[in-house]
Amino acid sequence: MASLLGNLFILAAPSGAGKSSLIKALLEKHDGEDAYPMQVSVSHTTRKPRPGEEDGVHYHFISREQFESLIEQGVFFEWAEVFGNYYGTSRVTIEQTLHQGIDVFLDIDWQGARQVKKLLPDTCGIFILPPSTAVLKERLTRRGQDSEEVIANRMREAISEMLHYDEFDYVLINDDFSTALAELEAIVCSGRLRTCKQNMRHSALLEDLLNT
Ligand code: GDP
Ligand code: ADP
Ligand code: 5GP
Repeated sequence: MASLLGNLFILAAPSGAGKSSLIKALLEKHDGEDAYPMQVSVSHTTRKPRPGEEDGVHYHFISREQFESLIEQGVFFEWAEVFGNYYGTSRVTIEQTLHQGIDVFLDIDWQGARQVKKLLPDTCGIFILPPSTAVLKERLTRRGQDSEEVIANRMREAISEMLHYDEFDYVLINDDFSTALAELEAIVCSGRLRTCKQNMRHSALLEDLLNT
């Protein structure tokens, strides 16, 4: 797939490391800035909604049958089975958003990240680690949205997710939240300033500067 004007960022992490909180804080902080509009991608999932989760806002919640039919129709840019549920990113939405020059953030697992990197190699991959195993467990528990059994399963799966940290371009440790947010902003900023992206965004300026 050709390079697109908007920047695609992937945030991956074991469940509870803080991906959703960091993306949300980043988007809120920069909401309304014209220079670099950004959006978080809303995935499809077969997981049941947590208390307070809204269809179309946190996820598009669908059945396994619907998901399998969408796979067959080629609707997904990437999809994976995580913790026994399907999760996937819609192709059309991502492509249209990036074409408009809007940066897109994907909160996806390592299997999805691999598929996306293959399709769009200039995607910027960021892996988020918790400061310790104990803190990860405490965050999952304190979030108060999953049962004990689900938390135990997610803690078991955390190592399988973290084993893939070195497939990502950046590794961020989410200990103090505001430090992690500042680091995420720095990564996003440098991702945008890469020459391959600046060539497209500032083609008119470059043309002017280099031909006078
Ligand atoms: P969280 O980890 O506590 O935020 O729990 P979620 O249930 O929101 O996400 C479960 C897993 O599915 C995580 O590893 C996500 O990164 C992954 N995930 C969510 N959306 C997608 C998606 O669209 N595609 C893929 N491949 N993985 C996803
Ligand atoms: P993920 O999306 O990776 O599963 P969340 O963003 O839902 O993780 O974060 C899990 C829990 O940890 C939430 O209750 C969140 O408020 C809390 N949390 C996230 N980052 C920090 C941090 N740096 N310090 C303390 N608590 C945090
Ligand atoms: P949760 O069920 O806690 O919302 O998400 C669990 C995991 O699924 C998280 O690690 C999250 O990043 C991942 N995930 C959410 N949406 C997608 C998606 O569309 N694709 C992939 N591959 N993973 C996803």
